[in-house]
Amino acid sequence: MNIAVIGGGLMGLVLAHRLSQQGHIVTVFERNHQLGGLATYHDYGSFVWDRFYHVILPSDTHLIRYLHDIGLGEQLRWRSTGTGYYVDKKLYSISNTLEFLRFPPLSWWAKFRLAFTLIYGSRIKNWQPLERISVEDWLVKVSGRKTYQKFWLPLLLAKLGENYKKVSAVFIWSYIKRLFSARDSSLNKEKLGYVVGGYKTVFDRLEKLIYTAGSCICTGVAINRIIPDSVDGLWVEYKSKKEHFDKVIFTAPVEILQDVAPPSLVQMSGDRTSIEYLGVICMALVTRKPLVPHYIVNIADSRVPFTGAIGMTNLVSLQETAGLHLTYLPKYILSSDPLLQKTDAELRQLFVSGLRYMFPHLSENDIVTTHINRAKHVQPLQILNYSRKAPQATTSHKDFLVLNTSQFVNDTLNNNTVVRHVEEFLKNERLTVWNHS
Ligand SMILES: Cc1cc2nc3c(=O)[nH]c(=O)nc-3n(C[C@H](O)[C@H](O)[C@H](O)COP(=O)(O)OP(=O)(O)OC[C@H]3O[C@@H](n4cnc5c(N)ncnc54)[C@H](O)[C@@H]3O)c2cc1C
Repeated sequence: MNIAVIGGGLMGLVLAHRLSQQGHIVTVFERNHQLGGLATYHDYGSFVWDRFYHVILPSDTHLIRYLHDIGLGEQLRWRSTGTGYYVDKKLYSISNTLEFLRFPPLSWWAKFRLAFTLIYGSRIKNWQPLERISVEDWLVKVSGRKTYQKFWLPLLLAKLGENYKKVSAVFIWSYIKRLFSARDSSLNKEKLGYVVGGYKTVFDRLEKLIYTAGSCICTGVAINRIIPDSVDGLWVEYKSKKEHFDKVIFTAPVEILQDVAPPSLVQMSGDRTSIEYLGVICMALVTRKPLVPHYIVNIADSRVPFTGAIGMTNLVSLQETAGLHLTYLPKYILSSDPLLQKTDAELRQLFVSGLRYMFPHLSENDIVTTHINRAKHVQPLQILNYSRKAPQATTSHKDFLVLNTSQFVNDTLNNNTVVRHVEEFLKNERLTVWNHS
């Protein structure tokens, strides 16, 4: 079977690899010149690492199994890292039970309620009722207002920016579930992982495996249109060319799907007008000295323009980064936010002013380089009753299928879910028929 996969992010590449293994001839079309989508890599001058920060959790069983499957199991590295909170112009470490018990911004009662929320949240199995309550209301109800203000709010801001106000409690439930499992119970410390060489290693390996299986990848090729053939299969249009495929699978965001597929091919359900996409602006900072002592620092200070500081080199060996320190400073915003249209120089100025405020002792000499990276479509906002409102694509055409992250209705956006989603998709009845036809 001759199959086109649109999108060369992790979803498209894992899918193309698996389909090639089943004997199909797959062509991956990726709009950018570089593979990887949101998980792609960036040249920081003296080293190459992920464009945005990525970690692997011990509970990412689907992803870890897949990495072993493609021969990268030996390249996984694990390290205990810490979490910090920046509150009232001070940085607190809450990386283990003792530090958590000492965390001054929270009273004993507030800490007790926080611990209760984590245990309670991690045990909830039925997430549907959580869709009907806002994340703020749920956290205030379970943790209390003080714990919410001092602990949860910075975390929500770090993950969602001001948009947390629109999001349902499913967001924090899936987050707690995922993060809870990152803690090693014996040490009660977070254990996080990465692949040597970052996600570039994964994409390089997938590219090689896809070609070895007789399939191919076209980078720098944006698909403009997908047109059903009058008899069988579909045509994909790009760069004023037209190519016929027996099957087409679309893995890019739904926002793009609506531009490239006519209504005769795909019907969108859900409330399109109320679904907004979250985007991100992230300044990556390369320094001679470490900026923060933790993997993640949640920032509860509205005077700082970024909402978290991710000390990547507290997880990743300095051998990976030419002995330099890499810190990501993200700011999550709506994809319609005018900030996304600002120039790199304007954004750099904004972020550097926040750096100066938060780290007054950081000298110009300590900074090696700064890089502004941005993504317009990260994930749809998981608003109230998202599973009913999510923009789901129904494809009535037997040869056209859609597989993308907007289909994650009760999960955070992460690569473990991407791999699991592909695995479940491959069991899809329509695909089983393809394998036998
Ligand atoms: C700031 C940030 C931090 C993250 N941290 C983590 C983490 O710690 N751990 C974790 O597991 N996950 C993390 N993630 C999530 C992870 O990056 C995503 O799960 C993953 O990249 C999604 O892959 P995808 O292939 O589904 O989508 P995408 O990466 O969006 O891929 C879609 C691809 O389609 C291409 N495309 C679009 N339109 C067209 C077209 N017309 N023709 C051809 N190609 C097209 C795009 O260029 C893109 O490459 C993070 C994401 C961000 C943004």
